Amino acid sequence: MAQPLLKVNNVETYYGNIRALGGVDVECNEGEIVTLIGANGAGKSTLMMTICGMPQARSGSVVFQGRDITRMPTHEIARLRIAQSPEGRRIFPRMTVYENLQMGASLDNQKYFAEDVKRIFALFPRLQERQAQRGGALSGGEQQMLSIGRALMARPKLLLLDEPSLGLAPLISKQIFTAIAQLNKTEGLSVFLVEQNAFAALRLAHRGYVMVNGLVTMKGTGQELLANPEVRSAYLEGGHH
Ligand code: ATP
Repeated sequence: MAQPLLKVNNVETYYGNIRALGGVDVECNEGEIVTLIGANGAGKSTLMMTICGMPQARSGSVVFQGRDITRMPTHEIARLRIAQSPEGRRIFPRMTVYENLQMGASLDNQKYFAEDVKRIFALFPRLQERQAQRGGALSGGEQQMLSIGRALMARPKLLLLDEPSLGLAPLISKQIFTAIAQLNKTEGLSVFLVEQNAFAALRLAHRGYVMVNGLVTMKGTGQELLANPEVRSAYLEGGHH
């Protein structure tokens, strides 16, 4: 069998003496959308950040395309085309939409710049309309689109998304999830998605994992997890349907 694009093996991550990840195994294959769900503080963001090398895993390994990146500096990991849209979006508020996209383009990709901006504007027409506005003046949903668009400017092989629907109205969340599905379908983009909006995220996913207290407690296809009674009662009942 082909090796997974990303393989996280028995990773432990600490903040000082606090163990945030207690030996986590997850993987993402080429062309997959993989979703990680879990309650607040379960360690989802920590896993995403550990993949990017900040903080680094204390033990275990992160392997990308067969290469051990556990101890690689974050900027070198980014050069391998792992792009992240972090929790809270972290766009540059004083820069325009267009300038934010420029910031996402890596130096190696300059010749694709115009083409990539066009692709992102086609995916998120709102960004095209607002291209001359400052990032800080955008709505939450538009900022999320910009954060994803900026990550896409790096032409990622793997896109890491941390809670893209956080704080957004259901209709806007839906647009974001539709765009992710479209990217995966049309470009074969591999996506590792962290979400508290379990229903929407699992529906989108080929496979998913459930994290509790820094450990993966369940895994399966998106459909299996959606149908699982434990998942339903802990993460879906009373949620978005
Ligand atoms: P959320 O959805 O709230 O972001 P999460 O599942 O992403 O939750 P993490 O943010 O990864 O969870 O947090 C995992 C654990 O690590 C929590 O107990 C949290 O309090 C702790 N933690 C996170 N960041 C730090 C930090 N910088 N210093 C110390 N502890 C931290």
